Amino acid sequence: MASDDDYYEILGVSRNATQEEIKRAYRRLAKEYHPDRNPGDKEAEEKLKKINEAYSVLSDPEKRANYDRYGTADFQRIDMDGFSELFREFFRGFGGFDFGPRARRGPMRGRDLRLNIRLTFEEAFFGTKKKVAFKRRVPCKTCRGTGAAPGTSPSRCPTCGGRGQVIQSMGGFLTVSQTCPTCQGLGEVVTTPCPTCRGTGLESQRVEVEIPIPPGVEDEMYQRISGAGDAGPRGGPPGDLIIVFSVQSHEKFVRRGLHTYIEIDIPFDIAVLGGTVQVPTMWGSSEIKIPRGTRDGTLFRMKGKGVHTNDGRKGDQLVRVHIEIPEKLTRVQREYLERFREVFG
Ligand SMILES: [Zn+2]
Ligand SMILES: [Zn+2]
Repeated sequence: MASDDDYYEILGVSRNATQEEIKRAYRRLAKEYHPDRNPGDKEAEEKLKKINEAYSVLSDPEKRANYDRYGTADFQRIDMDGFSELFREFFRGFGGFDFGPRARRGPMRGRDLRLNIRLTFEEAFFGTKKKVAFKRRVPCKTCRGTGAAPGTSPSRCPTCGGRGQVIQSMGGFLTVSQTCPTCQGLGEVVTTPCPTCRGTGLESQRVEVEIPIPPGVEDEMYQRISGAGDAGPRGGPPGDLIIVFSVQSHEKFVRRGLHTYIEIDIPFDIAVLGGTVQVPTMWGSSEIKIPRGTRDGTLFRMKGKGVHTNDGRKGDQLVRVHIEIPEKLTRVQREYLERFREVFG
């Protein structure tokens, strides 16, 4: 449970080593443990692996800063593909969402919709269901999306003669084919507009859904669900729905990928003599062993106390301990500490 192999120790450099010093140390060690020099030596091979790992973190300023603060540079994010699939399945099951282009001739694509979902720290950690309501444009029921009043039908576009394209002369033999500006490529125009949608072929629909949110969502994460936005005018392909998450911070815990991080105070005597302390985790309070002679700022790792994803991965909780120095002492306590000082010289 104590912090894993220390990257600084592996490279044999101090915690405030410069990038140049880190690079030099790495080059020297990489040479020393190179397989050419240690043929068939499994231990040297393992050691080289650790050296490479330590170097890959400490040579990258951002990873190094994370490592210094949280004791790890591995901030595995939740698997976006799995996440995306979950949402797609969800919206597919929900009636009225039309995925993928089913364009007739309409070239106009529907608008993208943006939906903001606010989550508490706990909701993002454990996963939840969120009820959301938004407005979405769908094909008009009165005219079934054609834009023409019931009983009438669109007529052939006079500009392009129904082809949807116009040919423009660029001078000489040069011509270009363009989408017809009158009918936007549809080949037909509405002469008697539908009274409900005024010829647009779209009407507004209020959508209320409960969206399943998997555990592990992070602040500013977003998800694009193609085809779940506004329908395209008169048969055009639908736009996308973009869900943007914001996650509130927590007064005790910090989330980094699947891991949580916390700082706790431990009594002075436990740091010196060793003992156990209770540490809050998102899964309830849990005990950790503090070895004798623990220094201020030591980092401990509580395996599996971070986020548990739907696909079975588990993050850890990282605990940085700070040693409480008693501000007030009783007479007896002071006497004992003075004896302690005498004994230790
Ligand atoms: Zn209509
Ligand atoms: Zn036209």
